[in-house]
Amino acid sequence: MKVALSVLDHIDRAAAVYGDRIGVVDEPDQPDREAASGAARPATSLGDLTYRRFAELAKAQAAGLDRLGVGVGDRVAIVSHNSARLLASFFGVCGSGRILVPINFRLNAKEIAYIVEHSGASVLWIDPELEDALAEVECANTFVLGRDDADIFVEGVAPQAWEPDEDATATINYTSGTTARPKGVQITHRNIWINAATFGWHAGVNDRDVYLHTLPMFHANGWGMPYAVTGMGGQHIVLRKVDGTEILRRVERHGVTLMCAAPAVLSAILDAIPDWEGETPGRDRVRVIAAGAPPPSRTIERIETELGWEMIQIYGLTETSPFLTMNRRRQEWDHLSAAERSQKLVRAGAPGIGVRMATDDEGEVLARSNVVMEGYWEQPDETAKAIRDGWFHTGDGGFIDDDSYLHIQDRKKDVIISGGENVSSIEVEDVLFRHPAVSEVAVIGVPDEKWGETVKALVVLNAGAEVTERELIDHCRDNLAHYKCPTSVEFRDELARTATGKLQKFKLRAPFWEGEERQVRG
Ligand code: AMP
Repeated sequence: MKVALSVLDHIDRAAAVYGDRIGVVDEPDQPDREAASGAARPATSLGDLTYRRFAELAKAQAAGLDRLGVGVGDRVAIVSHNSARLLASFFGVCGSGRILVPINFRLNAKEIAYIVEHSGASVLWIDPELEDALAEVECANTFVLGRDDADIFVEGVAPQAWEPDEDATATINYTSGTTARPKGVQITHRNIWINAATFGWHAGVNDRDVYLHTLPMFHANGWGMPYAVTGMGGQHIVLRKVDGTEILRRVERHGVTLMCAAPAVLSAILDAIPDWEGETPGRDRVRVIAAGAPPPSRTIERIETELGWEMIQIYGLTETSPFLTMNRRRQEWDHLSAAERSQKLVRAGAPGIGVRMATDDEGEVLARSNVVMEGYWEQPDETAKAIRDGWFHTGDGGFIDDDSYLHIQDRKKDVIISGGENVSSIEVEDVLFRHPAVSEVAVIGVPDEKWGETVKALVVLNAGAEVTERELIDHCRDNLAHYKCPTSVEFRDELARTATGKLQKFKLRAPFWEGEERQVRG
């Protein structure tokens, strides 16, 4: 009989084979402050957990959902900084047949309310630090992690058994893309399993790995690492918030071997080096998997030479679970100089096992694989646009070279990637249009030293209307997460359009991108 693939395979193996091993180290951001805050705020961290204990926590979550009457296929939303409780939900929620909706904690209350409503979540778990900000988000069963643990984790009661179904949706990850509202990407148990296996093979994840969660876990299911590291019996080091010095400290304290990072995180680590006393940690030990946006070659070179960490670039999307291609042939490139090697490493990589990549006539990158999502939650038309003849259309522009390596050069879709977070231009334009002074608007991404790209609004005002740059930015801040808001607004008399009235974004972008080697930046 066929045995269905599911996330239970990962957690059950870890509990059985590595039960006594510390599987999860869940430290607060600033250990001293958490200790001093006493009863004022619930503890955000659970300390050290063996894999046996971690698996118990996941089961206790499932039992808690049983008690609430949450059925198989029902949605459970969670908004949290990285934490062991969030990590447990990848197994407790999904491993009991419910669907996990991990939400970006940087979104504002209105945006989160939309996702909770659109996904039809009947349960919402909130990080204690976000409780006040999210007070008005409505859901049938809202609990605060840490404070309401007795309701969330029902210990000592066996949860109802779930018969794994590999085609069942395990998670819905909302991602900003080509529409005004974020779309819910449905990832199945099979998608997760295959992504974790291939990512694990290509990155060489093993039971000696100590993995630092520098990436927000909500993002594309932590790029599959929650599953790959658990299944292999590696160790998770939870990091609640990104801070370059804290990353270096934890690399030293815990003997970290592996981490993932968007280019902005790599910059934060590099910025922390001048103030670091003594030798930086992890030389010839740490592997860094970079993606989310194209890391600049200079950043890659500096991580390799100044820290002695191995850089591995991957490419993928939330819609592809996310791993599609990986760039890792270090041994073969060892004889090259750092500068020559970084030219090789700047490519997005060769396809993983089971992934087929192609480009169409317009240079759009296409992928066909078992890691492609089931579809967009309750948006069949958007799904049909994205997956055509079995090929997923990534919206990225690039080419495949003679070695089968993918190069990403620009973006066909109207998305800006700032600090590794996707911003839909259309969503920002929509909000700006709602301002009474605005007649026309184009939102574009422009190069930025810190964030790779930053959001810029080009605005034509209604005749006689007056408004300042600051007022328009504040208007966006009332409606959108901070990272989506323009950092600058330029007032124009008109915007370049085609004969049919369509905005010519490439023309509007061009002056800002002059001299750049690619039309996208990380
Ligand atoms: P997300 O769904 O948030 O993971 O965003 C996916 C998008 O990030 C892709 O469509 C690309 O535009 C961008 N991206 C991810 N990895 C890379 C990479 N290695 N190089 C260039 N762009 C990337």
